[in-house]
Amino acid sequence: MAILVVGSVAFDNIETPHGKVDDCLGGAATHFSLAASYFTPVRVIAVVGKDFTAEHEAVFTRRGIDIQGIERSNGLSFHWTGAYSGNMDEAKTLGTDLNVFETFDPKIPEAYKDSEFLFLANIDPVLQARVRMQMPNVRMVCGDTMNYWIADHAANLAKVLRELDVLLINDGEARMLAGERNLVLAAQKVLSMGPKTLVVKHGEYGATAFFGEHSFPGKAKVSHPFRAPALPLAEVVDPTGAGDSFAGGFYGYLASQPELTPAVLRTAMFYGGVMGSFAVERFGTERLQNVSRQEIDDRFKLFQEISHLDYAGA
Ligand code: AMP
Repeated sequence: MAILVVGSVAFDNIETPHGKVDDCLGGAATHFSLAASYFTPVRVIAVVGKDFTAEHEAVFTRRGIDIQGIERSNGLSFHWTGAYSGNMDEAKTLGTDLNVFETFDPKIPEAYKDSEFLFLANIDPVLQARVRMQMPNVRMVCGDTMNYWIADHAANLAKVLRELDVLLINDGEARMLAGERNLVLAAQKVLSMGPKTLVVKHGEYGATAFFGEHSFPGKAKVSHPFRAPALPLAEVVDPTGAGDSFAGGFYGYLASQPELTPAVLRTAMFYGGVMGSFAVERFGTERLQNVSRQEIDDRFKLFQEISHLDYAGA
């Protein structure tokens, strides 16, 4: 089943304790689509400028990602500048230049209209809402956002939240959105804003899913949360895009399954962790461009081994 994703396609300047890169291809939709492309067909809606070349295009098309919905505009692509220090648990945004995204009016190509899964990656909630409106018949809508939009675009974001089957955000964002420090109480508050299910990412500590009354259509409410691990890594080179890659693995797996059940959602959380763990091994999208199916399967097994009590080994 195809996923249609709208979000930023960007150039990032990133500084981490492992080095510094300028103008490397990034953006929420980019990391998301690369990760999801290992599970299901992906179609992208975004806008780029003159600085987006055939070489950048190939990063998507080599993975079979459909980019006819990436509009070319005069001007420069979205640029983000961020830095990580210490244990690299949070990016410090040093600059956000929306550039061509400022006047973007997303149009859905005819060939995208039968997409059954919609992912509203991190971008202005006004744009997320416009794409959602143009796709009334999708089976499932999943979305992301960040502090930038929570702080200054709350009313627009509230409209998007009401449309979501699943909201995927990190724990700082969940607390900020709810205005509540305790994560369980924050999750309850966020669920009351619209999303049927909330997946909270904890960076190097994994992710937790919180369920509402309608998380699983036709099934009883799951009353307790589910926690999936992250893989403890000896070296994290660049955390940029880890959250989007988690989302890509998570949603890509969901879209590849016939039905949304609690077991499918739990497995999707593990695949999210798997793709997030690859993303951070290199700068930008480098690692996600070249993961093999075998590596994904092996790492999935590793995730099972590090977290299961009913361990089958010696
Ligand atoms: P993540 O590390 O998964 O949260 O996502 C990082 C990506 O988000 C980077 O590649 C940035 O280009 C992109 N990004 C950063 N700020 C914004 C923003 N305000 N809107 C949309 N995308 C953003």
